[in-house]
Amino acid sequence: MQYKRILLKLSGEALMGDRSYGIDPGRLALYAEEIRAVVEKGVEVAIVIGGGNIFRGVAGASNGMDRVQGDHMGMLATIINGLALQSALEDKGLDTRLQSAIKINEVAEPFIRRRAMRHLEKGRVVIFGGGTGNPYFTTDSAAVLRAIEIEADVILKGTRVDGIYTSDPEKDKSATKFDSISFKDVLSRGLKVMDTTAFTLSQENELPIVVFDMNKQGNLMKIVSGENIGTVVNL
Ligand code: UDP
Repeated sequence: MQYKRILLKLSGEALMGDRSYGIDPGRLALYAEEIRAVVEKGVEVAIVIGGGNIFRGVAGASNGMDRVQGDHMGMLATIINGLALQSALEDKGLDTRLQSAIKINEVAEPFIRRRAMRHLEKGRVVIFGGGTGNPYFTTDSAAVLRAIEIEADVILKGTRVDGIYTSDPEKDKSATKFDSISFKDVLSRGLKVMDTTAFTLSQENELPIVVFDMNKQGNLMKIVSGENIGTVVNL
């Protein structure tokens, strides 16, 4: 295996499948199966899950809601998704823990770095909910932060596109995909991989990011075994 410990970032929207809101149980089960396969190979898996399928603070603010209030709702949404994912993973026979960045003790463990690392060493899948626990951040930032804290080898950003392109492949047919690209080039070309805060945190800590299509069966396994099917962002 190319990677021993991974941080998988899944957006909330990915959980919607073809729906326009909420969680598609079929999609969740597919993801759980992909994750089970790599855990069985001995890869330590931590997951940060988004909340965009339920609520985004920015969207609330644009409708006149207090931004911080909206962000709190967004953080709770990530915990709802975390619970759903936990359930789907346990259905596949995996041991899991959900750790939250905000206190919600009856529902999830608090985030404790050493405990998270111990869970991973024991082969448990650790899901980090609640983002960073702070408003004005995103779950991409949470993913980078947690990945650095738990000393993950890489962030795997599962999306519906199979990598980073010269321009948006859903709009521009002539767009071509990068197999690898440097952090500097992503910035100088104005490409969008993560929000700036998350991206620079990853760059400063020399943590590589792999962008790949999580919806294609077997892709997660291919990436952890070292196949270059997505785009790697590196120094
Ligand atoms: N959020 C937050 N702080 C964080 C992470 C998330 O306030 O550290 C809130 C924010 O409102 C965000 C929402 O939770 O819009 C859902 O997270 P995100 O938009 O990152 O989810 P994704 O796009 O990955 O589904």
